[in-house]
Amino acid sequence: MSEVEVKKIIKALNASDGAGVKLKRSIGTPEADYIDPFLMLDEFGSENKDDYIAGFPPHPHRGIETVTYMLHGQFEHEDSIGSKGKMKPGDVQWMKTGRGIIHSEMPAMAGGKLLGFQLWINMPAKFKKNKPEYFYIKGNELGIHKDDDKIVKVIAGQFEKAKGPQTNHNVEPIYFHIVLNEDKKFECEVPESHNSFIYLLDGELNIGNKNHNKTDNSNLILLERGNKLVVKANKKSEFLFIAGRPIGESIARGGPFVMNTKAEILEAIQDYNNGKFAKY
Ligand code: FE
Repeated sequence: MSEVEVKKIIKALNASDGAGVKLKRSIGTPEADYIDPFLMLDEFGSENKDDYIAGFPPHPHRGIETVTYMLHGQFEHEDSIGSKGKMKPGDVQWMKTGRGIIHSEMPAMAGGKLLGFQLWINMPAKFKKNKPEYFYIKGNELGIHKDDDKIVKVIAGQFEKAKGPQTNHNVEPIYFHIVLNEDKKFECEVPESHNSFIYLLDGELNIGNKNHNKTDNSNLILLERGNKLVVKANKKSEFLFIAGRPIGESIARGGPFVMNTKAEILEAIQDYNNGKFAKY
């Protein structure tokens, strides 16, 4: 067994997206442009409604999957394939945009706290032209493991007997949301083929065997390859652990579109401008 060690600790950058929603971006930044297969990770949230009330009005996507996980507040979403619903705390929206989707995500509350995450997973060339697919996962459908030391919510992958609802996925994703009590350990196996990271929401962690810099909130902790992850909480901590098998293809980014070449980005822009997206 080789233990997973810390590669780099990155502070999330303040950014804004949609109609000016304030967020903290950690993947998709100059320091961590692409952690294959992960293209972007945003923490969006605020206790000030002016930071999020304008939401994410209708916009297109192509070539990626977006995984949205709400912890506080509510979001109303609607898309061009007819999916509609209100996301509540604990719920997950997993969208495979394939060849094209147009969607909107608007806050469904006038005040109060908003907190959520959006992760973008790349799709391999052979899936980028697939029909879009949409999965809505209610909080009570996630796998949940509880013991005296920790709570592990499983959005993807498996922890002990708790299984995530997203199975048979090409990158074999692992997506855990963990609350770990002070001085307790969290351990899990990780496929050596996978790239992985921890996103720390709150607390302070010690990861692996080697010394590393102090971890802090809203830090992205990139991890080395290995097959066993051992995390100790120096104080009660809350974090995400996310891993996936790299796709290993070149990428071209064009805002909400991620393809393999620049020409395919131009094609996506043309298709969108010609009104082709909403027809899928
Ligand atoms: Fe979007």
